[in-house]
Amino acid sequence: MRLFLTLVVILAVAYVVDLIRPNTSEGARRPSLQPSRAASAARQELESARYAATSADAAALQMPQTASECEATLRKAGVDYRVLPGKVASGIAWPIRLTGPIGGVRVEGSGKPDAATNFLDCGLATTLLAWAKTLRAHGVVAIEHFSMYRPQAQVDGTRKPSGHASGRAIDMGRIELQDGRILSVLDDWKSRTPNGDPCGRWRDEPAGRLLRKLVCDAAARGLFQTIVTPHHNAAHANHVHLEIDPAAGELWIR
Ligand SMILES: [Zn+2]
Repeated sequence: MRLFLTLVVILAVAYVVDLIRPNTSEGARRPSLQPSRAASAARQELESARYAATSADAAALQMPQTASECEATLRKAGVDYRVLPGKVASGIAWPIRLTGPIGGVRVEGSGKPDAATNFLDCGLATTLLAWAKTLRAHGVVAIEHFSMYRPQAQVDGTRKPSGHASGRAIDMGRIELQDGRILSVLDDWKSRTPNGDPCGRWRDEPAGRLLRKLVCDAAARGLFQTIVTPHHNAAHANHVHLEIDPAAGELWIR
């Protein structure tokens, strides 16, 4: 009887938590919770809690409070960038474009270097700078992304602006290692289970394991507040969405 009551409480909590939690991933149509899935959702909420527990790391990142403070952080680290006029990057609070590597890691879009998809908020740049140390330690020399800034981007199924609308998200598609190997999310991130914990235990080949390790290290350090991986849905089959949201209380990772 006690076990039954406990289960009922877990199911009720899972149902309520899912109702109040915003859908923060663009292209992410969350499946409606069926009763049989509620128990696994509750377990995932518990698993996510362990990442929230690392918020001390997030505090250590010290997000800049002003544009000039943010730019000073980049200059001090030797990052080359251009400040963009607000009119070409509406929606971005501190709009810049990178003109060189960041912490020794090239951040490259799939289009021309001056394409709007390469614009980003300076705050995202400082987060990438903080992540670059881990990336370099694992031999990463470049991140290739599909986009950072998309002014009209909305969270799928809602009218809420996506993190891309403010240049605070990057869709990482591939990484390049110093030995020349290219690892792609589409081909190498093989473990993908709808709503599975991306940082759980999965049988991966080394390439997929490294991709997940890099993302999960960033999660554990509290660098990003919303992370959407191929585990979540088909819309993220070929990229990992990494988004900063300084106002968010905890990490949302799927
Ligand atoms: Zn995205």
